[in-house]
Amino acid sequence: MVLFGKKDKYIRINPNRSLVQETTKRPEVPDALFSKCPACKRLIYQKELGQEKMCQHCSYAFRIGAYERLALIVDEDSFEELFTGIETTNPLDFPAYMEKLSTVRQKTGLDEAVLTGRARILGQDVALGIMDSSFIMASMGTVVGEKITRLFEYALEQELPVVLFTASGGARMQEGIMSLMQMAKISAAVKRHSNAGLFYLTILTDPTTGGVTASFAMEGDIILAEPQALIGFAGRRVIETTVREQLPDNFQKAEFLQEHGFVDAIVKRQELRDTIGFLVRVHGGRR
Ligand SMILES: [Zn+2]
Repeated sequence: MVLFGKKDKYIRINPNRSLVQETTKRPEVPDALFSKCPACKRLIYQKELGQEKMCQHCSYAFRIGAYERLALIVDEDSFEELFTGIETTNPLDFPAYMEKLSTVRQKTGLDEAVLTGRARILGQDVALGIMDSSFIMASMGTVVGEKITRLFEYALEQELPVVLFTASGGARMQEGIMSLMQMAKISAAVKRHSNAGLFYLTILTDPTTGGVTASFAMEGDIILAEPQALIGFAGRRVIETTVREQLPDNFQKAEFLQEHGFVDAIVKRQELRDTIGFLVRVHGGRR
């Protein structure tokens, strides 16, 4: 028996409020009107988030897609996408993995969890990578590993600094050990780029965890983070159960990591473009 649901007809008021109609379609409240800030838990009217998608109360930077990030950071029309069309071989023959990839590709318009290319930031050329957590939690599989490795190799050849926005839920479980190999592969490419005296800047965004944190996210010459971003290796509960200690409230937050020397600076989203431009300029593209 349905106690609170309506059986068949709903009443709907027309937008001009002139007519009341009966309809069989269930009425829906637009779900994009308000957002709850994951950091301070306050409700925010969607329009107040602005183009930067930032919480006005605590500066938490909401998760945004790679293309939105691109629009906020690079000079107009300066982005040239590179290293597309690389496909995973599904090394573990993981069931339904290829179908999942194809669905996510259609949904996000991305070919993988990282967007790579060359762009200009405040007039300066950079090799740019942006990870996107809407693509299977930006998990790092063989294609992500290959794209980032090629980005560093390209930057080395072209003598460019690398600017990399990290976000990741960790290694891609559908590709097992092959995912973990990417940590060493990318780190080797980072080292070759570094040995040539070239500048590497990482910006840790919410959330940067697992194998990405344990490798290239933390290998930048300068490491920036967005306010309140979750940054860590293993999850909080895993650590608490292992060490049998209660962890501080702000554990694994960007601010905590900065206090402990893992992050150089926390930069608000509306100041990121200028900060990146400044850092690339003072380092002359070199460390
Ligand atoms: Zn907030």
